[in-house]
Amino acid sequence: MAKSIELYPLGVGDAYTERFWFSHMMLVVDGRKIFIDCPPYIPKMLAENNRIGEKKVVLDDYRELIVTHMHADHVGGIEELSYQQYFRTDNPMKMYAPQWLLQDIWSHLRPAMEESCRGDGGLASLDWYFDPIPMQNPHDMGGFKVEHRFTKHYPRTLAYLFDFGNFKLGYSSDAGFDPEHIAWLDQADVVLHDCCFGPMVERGGDVHIFHASREQLLTLPKQFQEKTFLYHYADKAYDQDPAQPNYDIGAYRLLVQNKIYKLL
Ligand SMILES: [Zn+2]
Repeated sequence: MAKSIELYPLGVGDAYTERFWFSHMMLVVDGRKIFIDCPPYIPKMLAENNRIGEKKVVLDDYRELIVTHMHADHVGGIEELSYQQYFRTDNPMKMYAPQWLLQDIWSHLRPAMEESCRGDGGLASLDWYFDPIPMQNPHDMGGFKVEHRFTKHYPRTLAYLFDFGNFKLGYSSDAGFDPEHIAWLDQADVVLHDCCFGPMVERGGDVHIFHASREQLLTLPKQFQEKTFLYHYADKAYDQDPAQPNYDIGAYRLLVQNKIYKLL
């Protein structure tokens, strides 16, 4: 059972954002910091957060990282974190993902990071930089559990359901609209859900296969809307005040970047 759970969004934007940072969360569970994904420009993002945000965050806070999928707006900063680990592999940060995703992460990093400045001149591997922890399903995080589920998205993408015993948090990850996925997330007390503000079909592509639209999410019951924050949203979602969005979002709320949410 957790005594306190805080959610701190460091980024809430979609993959095209010019205004926000890419979607990126920090959970603080009884003082333990867990990061979800790792988008690029981490030092810049933290510097801006530390100027305007409600909570200071520094690189040394990155001790535990959970990864959802391989799109650059979610993992582009892992290489940046690995730079920080060159000389500090005696205490590497923990990286949680299923084994196949850990392999994908290394496949992505390897061309840039295999030849490293390690003292013995040998080649580096993922576990030179990080402490990779293959996730079980559910996975015992020590003090709480995390369950994962594939979402409607490409490439393979995992949503996470955090079970703190006395509180559950559902994280949709990048996810097209899927009633089964919604039912799974609905087990949670608070849900964060990906939301695309459209247009959903343009330049020959249909975004529905990657992201849930605002219109689709508005078909869900009010009780689900009331406990759900939308994130991964477009720059045009609001002008000045996130409580006054430019679109009808029903009983949902927009998740606000650099703001502390006390969940428990
Ligand atoms: Zn994605």
